[in-house]
Amino acid sequence: MKKFIHIDMDCFYAAVEMRDNPALANVPLAIGGNSRRGVLSTANYIARKYGVRSAMSNYHAKQLCPDLVIVPGRMQVYKEISTQIRAIFAKYTDLIEPLSLDEAYLDVTDSTACKGSATLMAEQIRQEIYDTTGLTASAGVAPIKFIAKIASDENKPNGQFVVLPDQVDDFLASLPLGKIPGVGKVTLEKLQLKGLYTGADVRAKGVNWMQQHIGNFGVSLYQKCAGEYVGKVSTERVRKSLSVEHTYEYNKNNLDECLSQLPRLMDELTRRLDKQQLNNRINKLSVKVKFANFVVTSADQSHHQLDERIFTELMSKAYERGNDQPVRLLGIGVGIKSQAHEHFQLSILD
Ligand SMILES: [Mg+2]
Repeated sequence: MKKFIHIDMDCFYAAVEMRDNPALANVPLAIGGNSRRGVLSTANYIARKYGVRSAMSNYHAKQLCPDLVIVPGRMQVYKEISTQIRAIFAKYTDLIEPLSLDEAYLDVTDSTACKGSATLMAEQIRQEIYDTTGLTASAGVAPIKFIAKIASDENKPNGQFVVLPDQVDDFLASLPLGKIPGVGKVTLEKLQLKGLYTGADVRAKGVNWMQQHIGNFGVSLYQKCAGEYVGKVSTERVRKSLSVEHTYEYNKNNLDECLSQLPRLMDELTRRLDKQQLNNRINKLSVKVKFANFVVTSADQSHHQLDERIFTELMSKAYERGNDQPVRLLGIGVGIKSQAHEHFQLSILD
């Protein structure tokens, strides 16, 4: 049995601004750009009472709530707080999947903290977040990943909700389908047109009916509603490689023609590496060749920086395997070495 915790800060950006500027603490507040056409990223609870929501235009929000104070965001501050929160999570588990600056899934199945009680861990994590940052978070705890996310919304703000293993069945049966992550407004309307409103409705139809009438999405929805989809915290979103390739309009007919493409490919790869600031994390160079008969081959070598000589060697080696077949595609790439905490660092920059 898995134990997932979903932690979600309460109207994070707005809460940070209220914390740092007492003049904003008791007014309807939203974070957004200044232009009339801009949209809000977060609203505090006072503003939400007027119907103000994130992703709403500034203009629309002001119509609903004329006293709304809109301030620009301070991303650098939010990122720093996010790093503090991440350090707290890391005390409990290595299996952390951040969804954004202020939200993450934790898999605490094998954690020995709090004698293994995920409920107590969630309470303690929220307390530590408050003690460290002065901000509140909500949590959901469940043996199924997506249920943890739904649960973190149940007692917001500054609360938590636990779905125990023997409560999963009832929870899913009465679950409105619109609460399932991935079921948006349009999808929900389509499901409702077919008479599907809750998990119990989906289960009653059975997996074959769902496949026939809704397709593959229907099957995965059925699995979720039936409690068959446990989910997995994914810590593997880190980039492990970066490559560029080009398919040529006219095949390259010999090795020299292939090698003459190297400078251009290297320029492109350099640009991409610069953009993502990955230059100092290269641990491998690779070359890919696709021949006219669609056979693909590749060659690689450990190395810590871009090097035209090595790419030349690798391309020659790969080309030789084609026995003089024309080449339709060439690519070069690098392996990227991992870095402590990089997963979080990268994801908060998204
Ligand atoms: Mg949040």
